Amino acid sequence: MPEKPSTMPPVFRFAPSPNGYLHLGHALSALLNDDMAKTARGRLLLRIEDIDITRCRPEYEQAIHEDLRWLGIDYERPVRRQSEHTDAYRAALERLKAMDLVYPAFMSRGEVKRFVADQEASGKPWPRDPDGALLYPPDDRKLSRAEAEARIADGDQHVWRLDMAKALATANSELSFIETGPAHAGTLTLDPAIWGDVMLWRWDAPSSYHLSVVVDDALQGVTHVVRGLDLFAATPVHRLLQTLLGLPAPIYHHHRLIVGEDGRKLSKSQGDTALTALRAAGLSPLDIRRRLGLG
Ligand code: GLU
Repeated sequence: MPEKPSTMPPVFRFAPSPNGYLHLGHALSALLNDDMAKTARGRLLLRIEDIDITRCRPEYEQAIHEDLRWLGIDYERPVRRQSEHTDAYRAALERLKAMDLVYPAFMSRGEVKRFVADQEASGKPWPRDPDGALLYPPDDRKLSRAEAEARIADGDQHVWRLDMAKALATANSELSFIETGPAHAGTLTLDPAIWGDVMLWRWDAPSSYHLSVVVDDALQGVTHVVRGLDLFAATPVHRLLQTLLGLPAPIYHHHRLIVGEDGRKLSKSQGDTALTALRAAGLSPLDIRRRLGLG
């Protein structure tokens, strides 16, 4: 008998970080995920991205659940909390270490700034990544394994960075992905090298956004990543990590960003667009949908 085609439902996820109250931009992400999951008869997961222990707080996490409930969004339990899964991220880092694709980086932010200022004094601008951050200088990448290990043994503070050039040579394939968001729809092949040697493991928090998001999307069987356009530029880095770690690529959909009255992207510090504040001001979930143009 011919095999039946797979009937696995698509899997969507909303993945906020509990480092502030959710605002209208998050509401758009959460509602789009919910609408798209329903239309596709798929599953909706909530993932709490709380690896940055210095900024995440339990009251914000509590508020995420309350806001989603108020918006009428239901998601599967148990909810994955990244802080409970650092072993999975550690295992991915160890794999990249075994492939010799990561290196310990010892320069502090201040040292990088000073290094770049010296370089730029000669008139040549130092490259920045799409977020405007200085690319990490190449010196630590050139340390021998013995030198690097000796510094670690001495207790030198360090993070782990991806050796971008080596990683691209190892991946040795086109890093394309399917994008369905209206701004860039199509099959896209973008170069992650513009990010330089991205950080994959911080010294003050386990893992990094790039590593944990890729590991979790794969472990949770996520097939559709629906998130804001602010993360569009990071997607080639995610595709690279997926390729190196042998993980499947979800379909991506980056949605428009909601801007404040000043025309700038909303941030969690702008209290007046926080869902808690809008709810307290008497707005209904339907008002929120209308305000977001979701009908
Ligand atoms: N945790 C990220 C944020 O709150 C979103 C990650 C993602 O959707 O890939 O901005």
